[in-house]
Amino acid sequence: MDDLISDFLAAIPLPALLVDQSERIIAANSEALTLLGQQIRGRHFATILRQPLVLDAIEASLRDKRPHVTRHLSNDGAQDTTYDVNCRYVHGIGAVQGGAVLVSFQDITHLEQAGQMRRDFVANVSHELRTPLTALMGFIETLRGAARDDPAARARFLGIMEGEASRMNRLVGDLLSLNRVESEERVRPKEQINLTQTLEDTLHSLRPLAEEAGVELGLTAPEGDVEITGDPDQLRQVFTNLVENAIKYGGSGGRVDLVLTSSERDPAVRSAAARVQVIDKGPGIDPVHLPRLTERFYRADNHRSRQLGGTGLGLAIVKHIVNRHRGRLRVESEVGQGAVFTVILPK
Ligand code: ADP
Repeated sequence: MDDLISDFLAAIPLPALLVDQSERIIAANSEALTLLGQQIRGRHFATILRQPLVLDAIEASLRDKRPHVTRHLSNDGAQDTTYDVNCRYVHGIGAVQGGAVLVSFQDITHLEQAGQMRRDFVANVSHELRTPLTALMGFIETLRGAARDDPAARARFLGIMEGEASRMNRLVGDLLSLNRVESEERVRPKEQINLTQTLEDTLHSLRPLAEEAGVELGLTAPEGDVEITGDPDQLRQVFTNLVENAIKYGGSGGRVDLVLTSSERDPAVRSAAARVQVIDKGPGIDPVHLPRLTERFYRADNHRSRQLGGTGLGLAIVKHIVNRHRGRLRVESEVGQGAVFTVILPK
């Protein structure tokens, strides 16, 4: 009987244990031992599972022999974890009074995290939209009141309002882009494209912005065109965002260079690939920011990003597009030495 019980528990793909009417743990599978400790068999369940809600659920199930569900919150050393704990009474097993509670743990940490991310995202978007909106409302108020008969002030305020409205417009545009890219992330791009041409087109359309910032743009590419499979519009967006950032944040260096190389076997993607480096000689990025740079709304220099009209979504969009192409994005930077953003795209 004991062997049979152990075999049954071992076949359950979740941490699971049995508590009989003596209130001791009479059996546990290896997943439960990993979660709760190797020495739990034979122990009173309250000495192992210390959380009051879990104890209540097991006690209730032992008493009324009905199912009970609760949550078990823990930390696996790296992160907070959340488990759904199910207590189900099994008749006819266990030493005392024939019956035991099967306690199983379902890890729902990822669901909790997804929920938290959604809540954070909504809070961030609301906050980002509210700032320009509050400014707009303030200026409307002023134009109706104090500045009503002052043409010079009116012109100035309308200029600021236009700036705030375009900020909202850019934010909504980036949110829609991000949404589109995310919903297509599992669909592999199929078009054969000329990457050399894509980079030339990108630089061409950014030339006015670069000139305005006093930045020289350069492109180094191999002889002959580099072809890859990809989504032309999305890849243009990747390089536009990266070069725009290099001009915006690294423009003080006076130049931004694109370097395209191609190899038959790139270790980063373990296949034939093209690499595009976007290199600036600006102030660079403090290494503490690098791991989080592609998170939505993460800004290394908050003040500067807002001043320059950044939405904080540019690199998040880049990352998703690169992921869709099964590629890699690498960022290297040293403070004072500029930054290098490398996109590696399998061919
Ligand atoms: P933003 O809309 O703020 O530009 P991004 O997602 O495009 O958002 O970039 C995130 C942050 O990364 C920026 O706010 C900026 O602080 C930093 N950053 C990006 N590119 C560079 C660069 N070339 N040099 C320095 N900092 C950069």
